[in-house]
Amino acid sequence: INNLHKRELNFKFVIIGDFGVGKTSIIGRYTEGQFSTSYKITIGADFALKTLEWDEDTRVNLHLWDIAGHERFGSLTGVFYRHAVAAAIVFDLTRPETYSSVEKWLIDLRRKVHLPGGLPIPVVILANKGDVTVTTLPSQIEDFCKANNILSWFITSAKNNLNIDEAMIRLTNAAIQNH
Ligand code: GDP
Ligand code: MG
Repeated sequence: INNLHKRELNFKFVIIGDFGVGKTSIIGRYTEGQFSTSYKITIGADFALKTLEWDEDTRVNLHLWDIAGHERFGSLTGVFYRHAVAAAIVFDLTRPETYSSVEKWLIDLRRKVHLPGGLPIPVVILANKGDVTVTTLPSQIEDFCKANNILSWFITSAKNNLNIDEAMIRLTNAAIQNH
């Protein structure tokens, strides 16, 4: 009954980062509660929906956009970013070169999308595959976040469902504040 009176917010989030870092797996874990070890290569832009009963008055529909193969070009079309209100940049803790790409993705993002008022959209960094034991966390990540106006960073695992909800809640909070 209450649902009739809920306000409904639709947010587009983009999930970016190098090929193989776990973007599709993170989205699958978050929206379907599942993890699979096989590569899921999809062609073209792809998105999944996650609905959150945020509070008594608010339902949030998160439209999570997956690059779906185009990450190989290292730069995306403006269409992919259009109307996005938040972003997660993912790298793979087991492949340091994917961390080096985070800055490149951030530059691409900041060049191509802004909030309606012109401010940059909120961004989190996800250090994924945190379940793998032989990992070294890039020591500069904290400084990088401070210097680049990154909301927060998380060690995540799509495999073990680590910190994915937390990261999405963080972004959703920011999106609601900006709304
Ligand atoms: P994408 O190219 O960024 O979309 O990456 P995928 O989601 O396709 O994942 C690439 C590979 O990494 C797949 O074999 C996944 O099973 C694996 N993978 C993704 N996330 C994790 C994780 O958190 N832990 C582990 N151990 N493997 C992961
Ligand atoms: Mg993918």
